Amino acid sequence: MEKLEHIGIAVKNLGQANALFERLLGKAHYKIEEVASEGVRTSFFEVNGVKIELLEASSSNSPIAKFIDKRGEGIHHLAFEVADIKQSIEHYKQQGFELINAEAKKGADNKMICFLHPKSTGGVLIELCQELPK
Ligand code: ZN
Repeated sequence: MEKLEHIGIAVKNLGQANALFERLLGKAHYKIEEVASEGVRTSFFEVNGVKIELLEASSSNSPIAKFIDKRGEGIHHLAFEVADIKQSIEHYKQQGFELINAEAKKGADNKMICFLHPKSTGGVLIELCQELPK
């Protein structure tokens, strides 16, 4: 893994959470993006190279809606940048980690992403992400 790329936080209301995090971080979010395939609306903040991704469910069967039902609002995942996501998927598979999606897929913020199941990572959902060329 190259570095901690972002921290994902599940929120009930993106508008309210944006206002809260703007006050908390002392800066505005730099983008809002909907990822329909994941059932989420996201908003991104950046603090000295590390991003905060706020995630709001865009449908009732969204993984974020399920997460909030079960655990409430709060930290949802840690995302680490990798140089080559295909290679990383193979590596973590061989290391015995359970993947949520076996193939990398398109995520928010111009990235290919893959998740490791929290069952195999000490209860923390881990996202691997590789930035796509712009
Ligand atoms: Zn993420």
